Amino acid sequence: MQQLPEAFRERVMRDLGVEAGEALCAALDTPSPTAIRRHPQKGAEAPVGEPIPWSEWGSYLSERPSFTLDPAFHGGAYYVQEASSQFVGRLLAGEQMAGKRLLDLCAAPGGKSTLYATLVGEEGLVVANEVDRRRVQILADNVRKWGLGNVVVTTNEAADFEPLEEWFDVVAVDAPCSGEGMFRRLPESREEWSEGAVGQCAAIQREILGSAWQALKPGGILIYSTCTFNHTEDEEVLVDFVARVGEECVALEPVSEAEAWGIEVGRVGAFHTYRFYPHRAKGEGFFAAVVRKVGEATKSGRRGRDRKAKSVIQPVDKREMQELSRWLQEPEQMRCYRAGELLYAVRASRYEEVERLSGMLRVVYAGVAMGEIFKGKLKPEGALAFYVGLRREAVPEAELSQQEALEFLRKGELAATLFEEGLNLVCHRGVSLGFVKRIGARVNNLYPHSLRILNK
Ligand code: SAM
Repeated sequence: MQQLPEAFRERVMRDLGVEAGEALCAALDTPSPTAIRRHPQKGAEAPVGEPIPWSEWGSYLSERPSFTLDPAFHGGAYYVQEASSQFVGRLLAGEQMAGKRLLDLCAAPGGKSTLYATLVGEEGLVVANEVDRRRVQILADNVRKWGLGNVVVTTNEAADFEPLEEWFDVVAVDAPCSGEGMFRRLPESREEWSEGAVGQCAAIQREILGSAWQALKPGGILIYSTCTFNHTEDEEVLVDFVARVGEECVALEPVSEAEAWGIEVGRVGAFHTYRFYPHRAKGEGFFAAVVRKVGEATKSGRRGRDRKAKSVIQPVDKREMQELSRWLQEPEQMRCYRAGELLYAVRASRYEEVERLSGMLRVVYAGVAMGEIFKGKLKPEGALAFYVGLRREAVPEAELSQQEALEFLRKGELAATLFEEGLNLVCHRGVSLGFVKRIGARVNNLYPHSLRILNK
């Protein structure tokens, strides 16, 4: 295995002392625990394992199965998520999260965004932002699969959110960092690490935190996290932040069990901090800090300073709504709209927010993509199959074996006899995976090309 960078080793020995430093370096050469987080509504078919003590839906698996060959994984029954990073959910455990508006500023590939989407529930709204235009597509795919219909995926700079002044109940900054916590799970990250990168990341982290704070409501919560051990990107970034706006910060109740779980707890101003060292806690290297913004929370937040821009979404007409309603469990709670060729649905109570965001940010995906209407009938998008609010009686369900389901996920050929004539919802052990259309002896596999399994 690639050696740990010498400058990293030396610093760890200085910071932790030789004994603990050696223990950390030794732990970085052991295998990573495999962990998943179950979907609360769709997770019955998720693999079972030992619970992660700080995560309501998390478990460790005793071995790493081939997730690619598990149809339930593709259907969003669970997310493969490193255990330490699931701790951000625990930071919000004392809060009433249902229905809240949350901004995840550095969101791809979406591990934490999907957890936040679960916490705010279908009535809430998560804005999951990823600046990198390639990574944002992976984020959008994971959001589609999670299927709660309560996420707006954007691809913007953090500063673009500043006009949304005091608008969010929670803002999470899972900052780009030098990645020392990845040294175990991704050994190639050891080669990419440098002392220079540590300083550069710290400068970016300070800027992102400044934008995050502006977008946060009084009474709201800021979560700052990195997957690195060094104080320059962790405590020192917070020291600098506290020097700027410390008088606006209030401490939350600390997570009292943290030490018993092997997490190192600390304090920077009003921030409670939590650091995961792999030789002490069962997870990868991780640092998280949390604080509340002083003041009384208002329900809506400030109106903010929108640039003059026209929203790119348009309402659907009555006929279209009638057809879309057939596919939704609670059509009266939903509002549908058109963006380009595609029709989408979102909670009616969130429609105006989606409209506003689509006028001021680069929105990649919002709510649930329903599909296109041809001759009055919906041609469903793959995302609709993953949506928890899909009315499953809308089309016949075809329950496939594991082999057949994998063939479907490869966009391979399937026997027409497996399906009824017309559209079918494809399921495996009740987890819905997508749609096919049977026309006589022919089967059109409608699984999205971008999601198909490539291996045999
Ligand atoms: N939160 C994600 C999750 O749980 O799956 C992981 C996020 S990762 C640690 C940090 C992300 O920040 C990367 O996707 C990276 O592309 C993005 N990033 C890089 N530079 C950025 C910047 N200047 N502003 C905002 N985000 C940035």
